[in-house]
Amino acid sequence: MVTVSDVIRHLERIAPSWMAEPNDAIGLQIGDPSTSVERICVAVDPSESVVDKSISRGAELIVTHHPLIRNPLKSLTKGDPIAERAIKIAQSHTALYVMHTNYDCVPGGVSDILASKLKLTNVQPLCKARSDEYYKVVVFVPDEALVTVRNAMAQAGAGRIGEYSCCSFRTKGVGSFVPEEGARPYVGSAGRLEEVEEWRLEMLCTRSVLAEVLSAMRENHPYEEVAYDIYPLANEAPRVGLGRVGDLDCEMTLREYAEFVQRELEVGFPRLFGDPEKLVKRVAVCGGNGSSLYKEALSAGADVYVTGDWRYHDVQNSLVMGLSIIDAGHFETEKPAVVALAERLAQDFVGRATVEYIE
Ligand SMILES: [Zn+2]
Repeated sequence: MVTVSDVIRHLERIAPSWMAEPNDAIGLQIGDPSTSVERICVAVDPSESVVDKSISRGAELIVTHHPLIRNPLKSLTKGDPIAERAIKIAQSHTALYVMHTNYDCVPGGVSDILASKLKLTNVQPLCKARSDEYYKVVVFVPDEALVTVRNAMAQAGAGRIGEYSCCSFRTKGVGSFVPEEGARPYVGSAGRLEEVEEWRLEMLCTRSVLAEVLSAMRENHPYEEVAYDIYPLANEAPRVGLGRVGDLDCEMTLREYAEFVQRELEVGFPRLFGDPEKLVKRVAVCGGNGSSLYKEALSAGADVYVTGDWRYHDVQNSLVMGLSIIDAGHFETEKPAVVALAERLAQDFVGRATVEYIE
């Protein structure tokens, strides 16, 4: 059986909460974490139609990109559209979980999916806002459990360095202990000093996956009390932030690229600002309303910036400074990543829960 909290734990691995912008409204907004889940609906917005469809399909959990509750509600009564929707969701015992700017920033999230759909290579964050932290986890393991413990920790996200996974180091040594009264030792007996050969297994992990790595380590370790150390490291960890900048394989005119964006994102009428015949190669992108990041796009050397909800003065300032603009819509620049999230969850929970994208 899958519960809301099982799905939340999984979503937290996909887009950890700490990656969200300060004051963003994310996480479980409505519902009981212990509710069991057989059907999950995934959507960009917690709109009236998304809420109604989810309830009529019998979904116990709705996962949306945009929050329903952004500001503290002063009352929960009929007459206010947000409050009415919140009441409807709660009365049908459905849960609502939001992954917003954390899903924008995270590697493999909104910005990366948009960059890959728009054929960018050498992709970097546009705004390197926050940094993860590295930890070294050292655990002492008997020989017969070494591979199981290492693989479980790797599966939970430890030992990833650049393009390498399952990185670990181990040294053999001798551990000692006295099982006190009441202990149920894996080796030895109460009151007697034991010395056993153990591996000292070391693996690196980021703060985002530390809790998962520790629980995988404990669950797969044969000892009653697992001896382990966690060291904070000064190594520079990957930075995450909103938007991406990257290069097209070959130059094209702004007009040609706008037509390509229109096809790829299924935008009705993308708005184009700048000389349509200008050649573009370096492109900045941001899902949703990224127009305020135009200075970051300029300093990253972008020829054109693709995002939604362009504000009048941001357009004027960008054009003066030589940055062309494609306004591809707020919803259209975010939808591909939300569809991809639904597909990923459908795979991850196959046989346990049904997952579908709706709008
Ligand atoms: Zn948005």
